[in-house]
Amino acid sequence: MFGLSVEEAAKLHGHKGPWLVLGYKAGKRAKEILKPESEHDLYCIVKTPLKTPYTCAIDGIQAVSGCTLGKLSIEIKDSSLEETTYLFIDRRNNKRVEFKLRTDVPKLIDELYEKYGLERTAEIIESEDICKLFKEKLYD
Ligand SMILES: [Zn+2]
Repeated sequence: MFGLSVEEAAKLHGHKGPWLVLGYKAGKRAKEILKPESEHDLYCIVKTPLKTPYTCAIDGIQAVSGCTLGKLSIEIKDSSLEETTYLFIDRRNNKRVEFKLRTDVPKLIDELYEKYGLERTAEIIESEDICKLFKEKLYD
């Protein structure tokens, strides 16, 4: 199976932060749902503010989902933080799953970061249930 572990994703990215982990978790969940057989099956449209740390999620998505800039299978669109959405499309059958970031998550991350710093915050987000982080919607 293609795709990197979360630790490998952190290595690729340079550090393990909460936004990297958010992208990684969404990509991993998209794979569980859409069950791609190869790294070419999925296409991703990311809506995010074009600013770090928010864009760190893009590296998490690329590392796990096979949707990469090099394969032209990921598209990045500027949006407000409230509209942050990761949409995964299965190119074999056009099934789509959308992960819309819950609006309280950025604030939660900021609060955790203030208290615990980057690494611990990333770990907390990593262990958080995916449905606490995103609204998930499947389109057949
Ligand atoms: Zn980062």
